[in-house]
Amino acid sequence: LIQLYIPLNFLGVMYRELRQALTDIERMFGLMHEHREIADAADAVALPPGPAGVRFEHVGFAYDARRPILFDVDFDIPAGSTVAVVGQSGSGKSTLARLLYRFYDVQGGAIRIDGHDLRQLTQDSLRAAIGIVPQDTVLFNDTLVYNIQYGRPTASRAEVEAAARAAQLEDFVAQLPEGYDTRVGERGLKLSGGEKQRVAIARALLKDPAILIFDEATSALDSKTEKAIQAQIERAAQGRTALVIAHRLSTVMDADEIIVLDAGRIVERGRHAALLARNGAYAQMWLLQQQEEGDDGAAPAAARPR
Ligand code: ATP
Repeated sequence: LIQLYIPLNFLGVMYRELRQALTDIERMFGLMHEHREIADAADAVALPPGPAGVRFEHVGFAYDARRPILFDVDFDIPAGSTVAVVGQSGSGKSTLARLLYRFYDVQGGAIRIDGHDLRQLTQDSLRAAIGIVPQDTVLFNDTLVYNIQYGRPTASRAEVEAAARAAQLEDFVAQLPEGYDTRVGERGLKLSGGEKQRVAIARALLKDPAILIFDEATSALDSKTEKAIQAQIERAAQGRTALVIAHRLSTVMDADEIIVLDAGRIVERGRHAALLARNGAYAQMWLLQQQEEGDDGAAPAAARPR
């Protein structure tokens, strides 16, 4: 019987491995190809590689026609610059990121990259041009190197390690018993929120996209991690067109433009100092965060009541 048991047990392990791998991929593709009804137009063109400017042109959007989410949202992200979006929870910040990645099509206005309406671009070329650092990064149950290489599967080991260094993962990796070959994910080493975000940054850097979407985690990070991540966003955004969805105002201080959304409408826009001087919605959010920071001595918590 034992002779039978060993191969059967082995098959069981194999089956579980396979199931887990499939679940991971489903989860990832659940994120990446959420809305399959979006198809390429018959005459869709490929977005040429290279620097790209983004324009949200009087964008209107609703997930459900009975409840509009965005109203006449109009702003530019000139090639190579960084625009940050802030606002209360539910104001529509992450929706802007989903629309730029074309998970959904806009219902009013248009989103353009270098003048091309997204609906006239092939999805493959669009998605090749955009790197996302999501709020919550999904890690595969595999090695760290595999998880970073996912950003560009053809990358060499040396390129993966260079991206990890640029994302400041090096010290972390140096402490791991098997370095880059350490298994991570649900069944491997559990990474902290900050570490996972750095893996996501390394993935995005390896992809080397013209456009970077950074959807900042809502969960509070300690102030050291927060500062490190902030510096990394800046570095990763250098030379790219970046849309930063920010929950902590400290992240956006250096943005070329800050867009303040309120219930799907732009209510203020400008640079940090000018917005503070205006003494409006942004200045209020800033004050609130400073108070929270003072209260508990920790990193500024989320920019809005939860
Ligand atoms: P947070 O700061 O909490 O992340 P946000 O400003 O990013 O919020 P969005 O995620 O853009 O807000 O959501 C805007 C509104 O759209 C919310 O009221 C939300 O309930 C709604 N919404 C988001 N996703 C969907 C969806 N898939 N279907 C229907 N409604 C949705």
